[in-house]
Amino acid sequence: MKYCQKCIMPDTRPEQVFDSEGVCDACRSAERKHTEIDWKARRKEFEEILERYRNKDGSWWDCIIPVSGGKDSCYQAYTMKYEFGMNPLCVNFIPCEMTEVGLKNILFLRDLGFDIVQVGANRKIYRQMVRKGFFDLGDSCWPEHIGIFTAPPRVSVQYKIPLLIWGENSQLEYGGPASKRGNNYLDRNWLEQFQMYGYRISDLYHEGFDKKDLLAFEYPSDKELKDVGVTGLFLGYYLKWDAYEHGDKMIKMGWNPNPDGPVEGAYYNFENLDCKWVAGLHDYMKFLKYGYGRATDQLCIEIRNGRITRDKAIKLVREYEGKIPWKYIPDFLKFIGCSKEEFFKTLDRFTNKKIFLVDKDGKLVKDKNGDVTKIDYGY
Ligand SMILES: [Zn+2]
Repeated sequence: MKYCQKCIMPDTRPEQVFDSEGVCDACRSAERKHTEIDWKARRKEFEEILERYRNKDGSWWDCIIPVSGGKDSCYQAYTMKYEFGMNPLCVNFIPCEMTEVGLKNILFLRDLGFDIVQVGANRKIYRQMVRKGFFDLGDSCWPEHIGIFTAPPRVSVQYKIPLLIWGENSQLEYGGPASKRGNNYLDRNWLEQFQMYGYRISDLYHEGFDKKDLLAFEYPSDKELKDVGVTGLFLGYYLKWDAYEHGDKMIKMGWNPNPDGPVEGAYYNFENLDCKWVAGLHDYMKFLKYGYGRATDQLCIEIRNGRITRDKAIKLVREYEGKIPWKYIPDFLKFIGCSKEEFFKTLDRFTNKKIFLVDKDGKLVKDKNGDVTKIDYGY
C-alpha cells in the first residue's frame, strides 16, 4: 500500500492514478483548479447555457437540482436561484432510513424558498436491495447510490424539465481516469460504471427481483431522454468547488450540521448526515476493503486547499478512522434481519487481508472493541 506524496490517499482507491512523482490524480486536478483553469471563462460559458434553458414567462421550472439536504446540494440550489436567477425544482430521493437532522435540512431548503419533489422507493424492495448491497457487494448503501442518480433524470423526463444541475464532478474532486476528468455531464454509462459496480438494474431481474418493483431505480430510456432533451451538467465544472466553504456558508444561513460532531469515521461534521446507513457503515466497509475511509477523503481536501499540513492529517486520520460505527448498527441489523454474528462474518469477508493484520491461522487480529488492525505501511 502506497500513499500519495502530497495528500494521504492510498493507491488502493479504485480508479486512482499516480504519476511518476507519486502524486495522485486528485492532487494534480486540484493544482489545475487553482492555477490553470480560467474560472471566469467557465462561468461565462455556464451563464450562456443557462440562458438557453431559462423559462422566460415564468410558467414552469427552469432546471432540476438533485438534493439530499446536504450542505453541497443546499449550496447548489441556493447558488442557482439566488446567484444565477434560475427557478429550480429540487428532487430528493428519500434515503432508506432518514436521520432527524436530514429531515431538518430538507425543511431548511423549503424555508429557503425551494419547491421539492420527493421520490420514495418501495421499502420492501429497498430492504432487499440493501441486503444484496451488504452481503454481495459490501456496500450497505448501494440502492441509495442508484436512486439519487436515477430519480432526478426520471423527474426531468416526467416534468419535461431538460436541464439537470449536478454538484461536484467526483472524478475531478477525488481523482479518477483522465478520460472522465473533463466530463461536464453525467449519463447512464457514468452511473453504471461508477455507482453500480458495473451492475445494471436489469441484472436484478435474473435474481428474483420483479421489474415493476424497481421502477424508482430505473434510469429513463434513451428515447425518453432524447425526447425531452435531458442534459446534466456538473456545477463543479463551472464554479470552483470547495466542500468546506459550502458547509461554512450554509451553516451561517441556518443549515444544521451533525449535532454530535463528525459522523463516525469522518472528519467533517457536515457530510453524510441524511441517511443512517451512509453515516458510518458504508464508509467503514470502504475502510475494510481499501484501507481508507471518509476522514481520508475529507482530510485530503483540506490538504489540497492548503488548510492543513500532511503531517497533521496523518495524525488526525489515525484518530478518526477505522472504528466500528456502533451508533446505528443495531437498527441496521434489525432492518435487514441479520444476526450480529452473521454481520461480523460479512465484514470479515470484505476485509482486505493484505491491508489488515492476520494471525498465523489467517484470522483477522482484532482489539477488545472488535476493531481490525491496519498494517502500518507508512505514509
Ligand atoms: Zn494526492
